[in-house]
Amino acid sequence: MINKHYVEVKQIKKNTGLPDTYFISKFGFSPYKACQHSCKYCDGRSEKYYVEGDFEKDIVIRKNIPEILELSLSKFREKGIIGISSGVSDPYQPVEASEKMMVDCARIISKYRYPAMLFTKSSLVKRDIDLWQEVHEKAGFTLMMSIVFPDDSLRRIFEPYASSVEARLETLQAFKERGMSVGVLAMPLLPYLTDSEEQMIKMVDNYKKIGVDVVMPGGMTLRPGVNKETYFKVIEEHFPQLLGKYRSLYSENKLSGAPKSQYSKAVHQRFGNLIEGAGIPTEIPHHLYKNRMPLYDEIYILMTHMIALYDRRGVITDNLVLARKRYSKWLLDEKQYFNRRRNLSYLDLESKVMHMLNTGEIIEIIHNEKLASFFKTIILENKTFNYLTLKLEEE
Ligand code: SF4
Repeated sequence: MINKHYVEVKQIKKNTGLPDTYFISKFGFSPYKACQHSCKYCDGRSEKYYVEGDFEKDIVIRKNIPEILELSLSKFREKGIIGISSGVSDPYQPVEASEKMMVDCARIISKYRYPAMLFTKSSLVKRDIDLWQEVHEKAGFTLMMSIVFPDDSLRRIFEPYASSVEARLETLQAFKERGMSVGVLAMPLLPYLTDSEEQMIKMVDNYKKIGVDVVMPGGMTLRPGVNKETYFKVIEEHFPQLLGKYRSLYSENKLSGAPKSQYSKAVHQRFGNLIEGAGIPTEIPHHLYKNRMPLYDEIYILMTHMIALYDRRGVITDNLVLARKRYSKWLLDEKQYFNRRRNLSYLDLESKVMHMLNTGEIIEIIHNEKLASFFKTIILENKTFNYLTLKLEEE
């Protein structure tokens, strides 16, 4: 039994600065606030998000999201990926079965030909598979499913009202078979419960069978307050023998909720190695954002991802870091200029970057000839950078 709270919103999220290099979205919205899935580790319970009432039962429904989305997409001057997600709700939580907000939203996104990336823990998204396929065929769509358990034994305790692991994997499979890109948000790994080599291998096997395009691993943060108390209560009830270890791991009470960094680094590295070893990238790969955003943003994201990719392989990236710093400063200035002039189209800025690549003028900004020629090949010859082989490929 839930309490529905209907509200109206004035706008959806829009990023006019540098693009988000993690979730690579430029716009974002979520039709709900608070979440029936009731994940016991959910950071959305934290006081900093001001979710009022019972997080699992008092569900805020942003009733006018479809209208606001339509109004926004009809006016936006830039293209870019729409991220449908939120740290404090799930767009396909059970209430969506009757509210059907996402049906209208998918139709609008398709109508305005925007690319989208959707994050969920629910197989209900399969209800709208035809609509998302339409979005994919017009502009590109990626389904990101959050799956952090190899099977349902622990899932039932920690994510009691989210779809079963099997149902989530089947949903990814269904989208993949329809030609859409799919990925897994493999976070948070639960310390001492799902972080063993055996558990990780099982999870990676599950992802690999489907042929997912990306798996993004991550650890568990427990912010001091309700977030940490809720999780610890579950540990006390179901795994009392682990309580001491958890208290020690999270004893620093960092505002971010991060555990001791030594643990995080080691686990992240082990899981990341297993995922990449299975031939799956751990950053949203180039082919999932190429041609789905302005090329000036594409270059910025690519540079950022390249730093992480080469760093992990032990390659010194100082020059790349410097080039990105110079490029981001230039890009921010250009965006500020663009934002102030309503008569300009983002295509003007794209043409400018294209011209700079063609003539080599971009070297004056990034001070790196090799990188300039690399981007010229990517953009002008329409190549894709493979995040595993670190080589250029034909589109
Ligand atoms: S699905 Fe996401 S938002 Fe909902 S409870 Fe779980 S972690 Fe929180």
